[in-house]
Amino acid sequence: MTRKQAIRKRGKLVAQLPSAADVLRGSLLRRILHPSSGCAKCARGEGHPLWVLTVGYPGGKNRQVSLRPDQVPQVRKALEHYREIKQSLEAISELNQFLLRLDREESKRQELPS
Ligand SMILES: [Zn+2]
Repeated sequence: MTRKQAIRKRGKLVAQLPSAADVLRGSLLRRILHPSSGCAKCARGEGHPLWVLTVGYPGGKNRQVSLRPDQVPQVRKALEHYREIKQSLEAISELNQFLLRLDREESKRQELPS
């Protein structure tokens, strides 16, 4: 890869970054509660689906946020945006690392007596 290619690739990644305003880290879990006796749904074994956002923190800590069903699509999208942005940042970082190494190689080559 040349410097020009790396810079072009980096520009493309930056231009395609989704908005960071609605990112969410974590994962979406679907749990089924069977809370009550005397409930027809529970008696049929259907139970009550419950969506939970779980977010892990350093030290093995975990936070759980219960979601209303209508929040699930928006949460799913925000989780996806987080992953996309994270992937793009990783790729941009790799390109910048490549450019740093290229800088170093080029300055070394110039220092050599010809
Ligand atoms: Zn029930």
